[in-house]
Amino acid sequence: MAARTRVSVLLPLPLAGAYDYAVPSSIPIRLGEFVSVPLNQRELVGVVWDPPAIPEPNPVPDRRLRPISATLPVPPMTESLRRFVDWVAAYTLSPPGAVLRMAMSVPAALEPPTPQAGWVLAPPGGNSRPRITPERQRVLDAMRPGEPQAGAPLAEAARVSLGVLRGMAENGLIRPALLPHRRRFAWPDPAHPGPALAADQQAAGAALREAVAARRFGVTLLTGVTGSGKTEVYLDAVAECLVQGRQALVLLPEIALSAQWLDRFRARFGVAPALWHSEVTSRTRRDTWRAVAEGEAPVVVGARSALFLPFPDLGLVIVDEEHETAFKQEDGVVYHARDMAVVRARLSQAACVLVSATPSLESLTNAETGRYALLHLPERHGGARLPAVEVLDLRRTPPERGRFLAPPLVEAVGETIGRGEQAMLFLNRRGYAPLTLCRHCGHRMRCPNCTAWLVEHRAQRRLQCHHCGHAEPPPAECPECGTANSLTAVGPGVERVLEETAALWPEARRLVMASDTLPGPAAAAEAARAIQDREVDLIIGTQIVAKGWHFPHLTLVGVVDADLGLAGGDLRAAERTVQLLHQVAGRAGRAEAPGRVLLQSFSPDHPVMRALVSGDLEAFMQEEAAMRRPGHWPPFGRLAALIVSSEEEREADRTARDLGLAAPGGEGVQVLGPAPAPLALLRGRHRRRLLLKTRRDIAVQPILRDWLARVEVPNHVRVQVDVDPVGFL
Ligand code: ADP
Ligand code: ZN
Repeated sequence: MAARTRVSVLLPLPLAGAYDYAVPSSIPIRLGEFVSVPLNQRELVGVVWDPPAIPEPNPVPDRRLRPISATLPVPPMTESLRRFVDWVAAYTLSPPGAVLRMAMSVPAALEPPTPQAGWVLAPPGGNSRPRITPERQRVLDAMRPGEPQAGAPLAEAARVSLGVLRGMAENGLIRPALLPHRRRFAWPDPAHPGPALAADQQAAGAALREAVAARRFGVTLLTGVTGSGKTEVYLDAVAECLVQGRQALVLLPEIALSAQWLDRFRARFGVAPALWHSEVTSRTRRDTWRAVAEGEAPVVVGARSALFLPFPDLGLVIVDEEHETAFKQEDGVVYHARDMAVVRARLSQAACVLVSATPSLESLTNAETGRYALLHLPERHGGARLPAVEVLDLRRTPPERGRFLAPPLVEAVGETIGRGEQAMLFLNRRGYAPLTLCRHCGHRMRCPNCTAWLVEHRAQRRLQCHHCGHAEPPPAECPECGTANSLTAVGPGVERVLEETAALWPEARRLVMASDTLPGPAAAAEAARAIQDREVDLIIGTQIVAKGWHFPHLTLVGVVDADLGLAGGDLRAAERTVQLLHQVAGRAGRAEAPGRVLLQSFSPDHPVMRALVSGDLEAFMQEEAAMRRPGHWPPFGRLAALIVSSEEEREADRTARDLGLAAPGGEGVQVLGPAPAPLALLRGRHRRRLLLKTRRDIAVQPILRDWLARVEVPNHVRVQVDVDPVGFL
């Protein structure tokens, strides 16, 4: 076969497709190679992509093609990652280049690593006999022939200054040398002894090991009550993947809060895994990306973007807390990392494990139809019992005026901390109060840029929008009627619950856990440590307390507002509330002492409360399924949302109306809307929504493509496509 003279190069830009370039005969080229190419006046790095299945009808003639400038010294992008980029682009209706950009998120990693200078022992010999001072002797003792060492650590080890090293070099005792490229991630030892697994854990672990050893694609749903040892079991699958010599990826929904998880990993394998999330420093990102590409990072634990890392041989993908909505990326390329993890595994011939105590109806349905294997751990490890869940009927036992904790909950917290155990109050709302209102005229403080109330953050003396970040100091008088001191806080946030507990139990040691009080992994790790070491009596937290924590001394969980997630017309509101509250409840009683959970609710007979009290989540999910099936709601049908937005309200309306007029139809295809989005104004943009609903056997992508092609969208109007929407705001 003749050498290629032209190739397609995909660039990490939101362009329609790949561009053709000429290949100079001096450059040997492979598919997937990272290349530097000219585009307009710039040099850009792209990837040699597969030629289009249907050749371009009017290709640029060879003589007018611009040549590739150079190839970059990195392993080429694997075929499986290229197929993944194409697949995600096609599924989400995104430009392939926009998806490629996620797979090349660390441009610096494509450059050759700069070799580091150090020192090596000079070979003996020569006539001169340099003086050997005690300092010099310590340096010589710290070195071994033929092994270069970096200057600073060597000087430190020998307790000398860097000047001593330079002097030794001048005297011919040591010589400058480049340090070898060193492995940056320790190899976890699959044979490192982990905990002895109980019988049902062992059976589940063996099934997962077998799935990994098969070196084929397959999905397993691993379920089991909170505390049943799912993590221990899937770490066994990671061990098998290491035995197989392949790489493993573990996705966690809130990786920044995973300190306890990392401790578990270290306990199991002796070393830490590679980490991938937005708070990792740019230098570590560069090293990690490169190490992954070179097959030197055997295990990566990360956020959803880790799916786009360049694993040469991915053998296992685990999605922990697979039901979590945090796996959905809502801006840029809109994708669901749990679903794309399954695709990534399929394209890599890898095993995929979805893990949750409260699996999504999507995954449960896939297990029921046999598309996924199902593994279930029925009991808490070590005989710990599941907590007893009770509903506190707020209509019968309301809190005192201006308070938010009902008397039975107050009593239970008092008893718990009185016994020296820990209690947790859960309220999924940051700040002091969700609404500020004028007692005189009824005016409500709202965000100027969004359809949203301003949330009071009293500690910072600010009213804040949780959508756009707008903040202002609380005004002294009502901006509407001018009455002084008339503004009043309505409803509770965690800060207000904190205030109430301070009045009730002044001597209790309190800790607030919310994303704004624990910014970043270090703060979260410190909070977890303080709780474990019993430096805290009472924890007040938002949804970040729900996630996987293991607090052995926590025996009481009070849910301040169990009805909170049920408002609004969200398809999955009930499912999500059950999942969240069950996870929160699961924090209680994880060791010997039994746990107790109190749910404050105005609707104690709601199916969600009944499911939580009975613990029969299976029955609840079956009812959910029975409700969604007839109307072809997911997972028994497909949805895609179009979100039209513009700074000009009229423009948004016009485009939304045009889309409505061009709406597709036919058997099994339905369009709802256009209608103003619940967040009709967001960051100053007016928003309208349309929702395409199809039967499950009808793919939405061709319909969407055809639909969008028939409507002209002005430049300043944006139409965002959200396939399989999770949020409906
Ligand atoms: P899950 O992931 O199902 O919530 P975990 O894997 O976090 O459960 O296990 C709960 C607790 O029990 C953890 O502290 C874990 O270390 C411990 N544990 C689970 N299985 C075992 C075992 N076989 N031996 C010792 N400890 C275990
Ligand atoms: Zn706002």
